[in-house]
Amino acid sequence: MTRPVVVGSGIAGLWASWRLASGGHPVLLLTKGALGDSASAWAQGGVAVALAPGDSPTLHAADTIAAGGGINDPEAVRILTTEGPDRIRELVALGAEFDRGPDGQLRFGLEAAHSRHRIIHADGDRTGAAMVRALIAVVQHLPTVEVREHAEVRRLSRVGGRIAGVEVVTAAAGRESRVEVIPARDVVLATGGVGQLYAVTTNPETATGDGWALADEVGAELRDLEFLQFHPTALRLRGVNPAPLVSEAVRGAGAHLVDWTGQRFTLEFDERAELAPRDVVARAVEYAVSEGGAFLDARPLADFAERFPGIHAMLARHGLDPARQLIPVAPALHYAMGGVLTDLDGRTTVPGLWAIGEVASTGVHGANRLASNSLLEGLVFADRAARALADELAAPPPAGTAPAFEPGPPDAGADAGGPATGIRAAMRAIMTGMVGLSRTEGSLEQALHDLAALEAAVPGGAWRTRHQLRVARLIARSALARRESRGGHRRIDFPPADQPRIEPEPLGLD
Ligand SMILES: Cc1cc2nc3c(=O)[nH]c(=O)nc-3n(C[C@H](O)[C@H](O)[C@H](O)COP(=O)(O)OP(=O)(O)OC[C@H]3O[C@@H](n4cnc5c(N)ncnc54)[C@H](O)[C@@H]3O)c2cc1C
Repeated sequence: MTRPVVVGSGIAGLWASWRLASGGHPVLLLTKGALGDSASAWAQGGVAVALAPGDSPTLHAADTIAAGGGINDPEAVRILTTEGPDRIRELVALGAEFDRGPDGQLRFGLEAAHSRHRIIHADGDRTGAAMVRALIAVVQHLPTVEVREHAEVRRLSRVGGRIAGVEVVTAAAGRESRVEVIPARDVVLATGGVGQLYAVTTNPETATGDGWALADEVGAELRDLEFLQFHPTALRLRGVNPAPLVSEAVRGAGAHLVDWTGQRFTLEFDERAELAPRDVVARAVEYAVSEGGAFLDARPLADFAERFPGIHAMLARHGLDPARQLIPVAPALHYAMGGVLTDLDGRTTVPGLWAIGEVASTGVHGANRLASNSLLEGLVFADRAARALADELAAPPPAGTAPAFEPGPPDAGADAGGPATGIRAAMRAIMTGMVGLSRTEGSLEQALHDLAALEAAVPGGAWRTRHQLRVARLIARSALARRESRGGHRRIDFPPADQPRIEPEPLGLD
């Protein structure tokens, strides 16, 4: 009962498990795929951290706030940027290796909207994989962390106002899945993002918004769900899901975006053309896609294969040769800025329920995420949540909290059937078309109407589909409620204006 359950094995879940276990607290780590299945393992660009000579947490904080559309929580940003360097030093001590120059010092890259070189990488563009690998090795050697793979949390139990346990569906190859209810007074959601709710996404198949659905079901407050970040140039090929990124660096090297007639089109949207801010380019690409198609023309880059070996190999796997062919692209859902509302130590509004990483809304990102801040957020706030949880575990346990329900029926596979698959495809089309890069009151109302119709048609037992529709509806409702354009939320009926800073509201945790 007192053993915390951590749900998810990305950077946030792994770090929290390690921190709790290293403080002497046994942990149960549940993850719905294999231990290494997460968006964290896919992160390419790197980690933003103020460790370079001439840089400082204050400068990093200023850049984070400048990107955030005026609604970051300055205290959360201060914590991110001041505690980040120590977390990276600890990660290095745990065995993670970041790229270094010939002098043995960390190498710092520059990314859009950062005023200093502060992005560290591992294995070039395999930063997330290296970080996750190091943490998995640590966690697997800790006898106090019990890891269960292919264990998917289906429900949370809340009794008397407090979390009391989780219902877990464990898949066993070739056998009927097992369902059990695990009592727990503390559950840490580290379930990642929501990309799979959209037709084109860079997120892995595990990113289905489960944490938002689970938290909403037990009455936890969610915030800022309308703020979503789209990457402008993901590879768009029928049946390729997730969509691989074709990095901004390719445009930086001189590749042009062209429409289906071969004409450049970004200049019509912004004088900076292909190198305008991400959301501007993404909207231009979306427009071209709706008119017939958008393509990256990298044919003028004679040294493409040498400069971008990873992307070149990825394109080759899909039968594309950038020296001869245009690369079909589309904007892809990449990152969720909002999520389950937490205080600065990961507590949600439901006692015993914690949220860390992309599933959470700590206030760090505001309306738009500064590139490479999310891995750092995962480390910093997972660490704070684990420490705060450890302190609570030292106190006498709260009274009488056995889970409120018995295990439900086994998973009959209804989500994999034709009707549920069709419903999720329709949901993704609705989200991309009506709750995507550009929204209006009309599109959002239509989306809510259409999502409700889909919900009514969900076959019995298709709980994953039901969860996803619940989250889709929450996003559409939030987007309808925010009657302005800000950061990652663009309302065509409310053009961007000068936006005053909005101070964050007090949390009012019970
Ligand atoms: C292609 C790509 C490139 C990126 N590049 C960068 C970058 O360079 N720098 C950066 O800072 N950020 C980057 N990001 C964003 C960053 O990777 C994520 O925001 C971050 O890794 C999220 O970490 P997390 O631990 O919160 O979630 P994740 O890493 O997504 O992990 C979530 C975990 O929860 C599990 N899970 C989900 N639902 C359940 C359930 N119901 N039951 C049990 N387990 C469940 C999943 O299986 C998974 O293990 C990138 C993202 C993508 C997709």
